[in-house]
Amino acid sequence: MAKTLQDIRWSTFWFLLLEIFIYFIISSIFSQKLAVVIVLATLIIFILIHIYWIYKLSNWVESPSLKNLPNGTGIWQNIFAKLYRTYRQQKKSQTQLTTTLDQFIQAAEAINDGIVGVNEDNEILWSNKKAQKMLNINPKKDYNQPINYIFRNSDLSNYLIKENYENSINIHNTNNKLDIEIKATFFSENHKLITCRDLTSLKKIQNLRKDFVSNFSHELKTPLTVISGFLETLEDRKKIDVQSKKIISLMSEQAHRMKKLIDDLLLLSNVESDYLQNRSEKIIMRDIFKKIKNEVSFIDQQQHKISYSLNNEINIYGSSTEIYSAFINLLTNAIRYTDKKGEITVSWNKINNDAIFQVADTGIGIPEKHLKRITERFYRVDEDRSRESGGTGLGLSIVKNIMHQHQGEIRVASEINSGSSFKLIFPSERIYTK
Ligand code: ADP
Repeated sequence: MAKTLQDIRWSTFWFLLLEIFIYFIISSIFSQKLAVVIVLATLIIFILIHIYWIYKLSNWVESPSLKNLPNGTGIWQNIFAKLYRTYRQQKKSQTQLTTTLDQFIQAAEAINDGIVGVNEDNEILWSNKKAQKMLNINPKKDYNQPINYIFRNSDLSNYLIKENYENSINIHNTNNKLDIEIKATFFSENHKLITCRDLTSLKKIQNLRKDFVSNFSHELKTPLTVISGFLETLEDRKKIDVQSKKIISLMSEQAHRMKKLIDDLLLLSNVESDYLQNRSEKIIMRDIFKKIKNEVSFIDQQQHKISYSLNNEINIYGSSTEIYSAFINLLTNAIRYTDKKGEITVSWNKINNDAIFQVADTGIGIPEKHLKRITERFYRVDEDRSRESGGTGLGLSIVKNIMHQHQGEIRVASEINSGSSFKLIFPSERIYTK
């Protein structure tokens, strides 16, 4: 640029010098008048030439292309040559950019999952076709609008607002009946990438399996009740010898265990179902705790020192039967895994906007390597102790599912031989105060 300016300055300088020279030569040979006329005439020609090239340049700017760029003369030759180089460079970068963008778009479309790019206000910037189909996004209308306005779902809104993207969430699209797993990740400075996976077929298989377990457990219940009934009648018979009585008592015990297992399996399949339960009841926690205290004192028979610190003003929306079941599960575990005279403390409080139910015991504790897995079905640290104390290995798995259905979570901390603490955390959206 500086060179072109310099060229312009020099060419103007030489032109003016030439004009002065012409003026003096002509005025000394002919007349002053003629010199003025010739100088003016050359000046006008000079200006007209520049106007012509400016006109050519403005024409070219209207529809720029490498082919129709004029060659120019004099100073204009340099200007057009420079323009040619810059324009060619720009075209090259543009082609490279377009190729990269095309490749990116093709890659985004080739991915099996849906992807949506959003900014810090969760406004949609771009998306691939799969995401558009899964979340009903219309690229013509919906870009630059917050994704939670386009796809209205309270779970998705809460997930995006909370910005805790370690875990994914599962949502159901009532429009297209799809079950979708959603996970967000931060990228670049303020942008987020939302991936969505269609879980519909997986859910179908899961539902088939759940239905099978549920039906099977249900079918087993009736014959088992009959067997238990007969065993009880036999046990009550007076004429029966000691050996047979012992065998019948053992059979009865096993039938009882089987019944408990079936009950837990049925409970688990109910808890896993998204539709069978009303999970928006206004639960009055005072009533739940009253029932729990009665049940616990019946189970424990004053073998442990149990203390309660319950804030009855904090109430939640949920399924009262499931919440009761989750709480009582933790308490029976604390009783079963804490030696006699041990201490159990139960609390219900609001901490950092969450409602937290906590059961802490001074029991046998759980070795750290097992902590991650104890909420899995049938996972037990000590199988014998679990069985002897009437466990099915399903309790914590039921609790975890109940918490999941209430958008909450279970947290466990434990130290071997010192005790364990189980926390059930309910999010602020579940809390109401009278
Ligand atoms: P179970 O019927 O075997 O108790 P759960 O699902 O309720 O099944 O618990 C899984 C396992 O977690 C138990 O077998 C036990 O090893 C461990 N566990 C649960 N609660 C406690 C506790 N309060 N203290 C120590 N271990 C516990």
